[in-house]
Amino acid sequence: MTSVALYDTKPYDQQYFLQAPRYNEISVQFHEFRLTSETAATTGEANAVCVFVNDRLDANCLALLRKKGVRLVALRCAGFNNVDLNAAKSLGLAVARVPAYSPHAVAEHAVALLLALNRKIHRAYNRVREHNFSLNGLAGFDLYGKTVGIIGTGKIGKIAAQIFRGFDCEVLAYDPFPSPEWAARFAVRYTDFDTLLASGDIVSLHLPLTPQTCYLLNAETFAQMKRGAYLVNTSRGELVKTKSLIEQLKSGRLGGVALDVYEEEEHLFFQDHSADVLQDDEFTRLLSFPNVLITAHQAFFTHEALTEIARVTTENVARFNEGEPFVEGSVLVALP
Ligand code: NAD
Repeated sequence: MTSVALYDTKPYDQQYFLQAPRYNEISVQFHEFRLTSETAATTGEANAVCVFVNDRLDANCLALLRKKGVRLVALRCAGFNNVDLNAAKSLGLAVARVPAYSPHAVAEHAVALLLALNRKIHRAYNRVREHNFSLNGLAGFDLYGKTVGIIGTGKIGKIAAQIFRGFDCEVLAYDPFPSPEWAARFAVRYTDFDTLLASGDIVSLHLPLTPQTCYLLNAETFAQMKRGAYLVNTSRGELVKTKSLIEQLKSGRLGGVALDVYEEEEHLFFQDHSADVLQDDEFTRLLSFPNVLITAHQAFFTHEALTEIARVTTENVARFNEGEPFVEGSVLVALP
């Protein structure tokens, strides 16, 4: 039986894993702390580890895991920027992920954030609870007729684009690997990156974090954006240079910013810090802007997505035990 150690788990992870179809075929230890080189000694008898977005599997951590007898790293997420795949390959470790659990969950959250921010729903909610029925300062804009720039038209970006088309927005897209048939079907227009930045009333990021895309939005690229544009980032925090983002907000160049991810989220998100003095000055500065709305990496967090994450992950771990091929699209590094 494959024994798997799960890291950075919360009660909801445990609840969904317990209900997964092949859960009974594997032996599971749940850990609430994260997997890093400092905690790699905690795998016990496990020959597989299961990790999430903020576990850090660098070369050192992977070497320690290999020494302890681990052969499989199963990511219960789609992004894999936190695992050194080259090191895994040279150590003979297999790496699998959940390639698509619910692109709808993330795309719908991106649009929800934008709607809430633009129509100031979060502020109106607090006012009404205090019996303040004034509308001063709550004016938004119609999405109808606005130009939305979608950067990255993979699984999530495509659905986000389709939702914006439903509002009758003009949708521009940029992706080095475009999907022309899909674009024609939904009347989405591909363009180059610079034109998208210069034309978007709203720019929404749906591309992966890689060394090439890190700080895609920085002082220089922000300067190419329309004055008053809104930015939505539900992809990865490091796509945006936070220092420059704060400057753009202070100068009023950006009209609004909706974030589900943050450059330094590893130290904050998925934990209750409500009784702590936050030490991250850039994050607290972001919170101080009335035109910034932040959620703590919850775009994926739907019943459908959690069910699929648990199903695919337990399926991969069970298949590993049986020597069967992993679920289609999950393999990042095959076993040698
Ligand atoms: P995907 O692999 O299906 O699509 C990514 C697209 O980005 C691809 O079409 C690729 O060609 C394109 N791309 C790559 N480099 C680019 C560049 N420089 N400029 C423009 N496009 C580029 O991925 P997906 O499933 O759509 O997910 C997108 C991202 O969303 C993931 O990488 C992950 O970081 C993020 N995500 C966030 C959450 C959340 O809860 N907030 C959940 C899932 C995924």
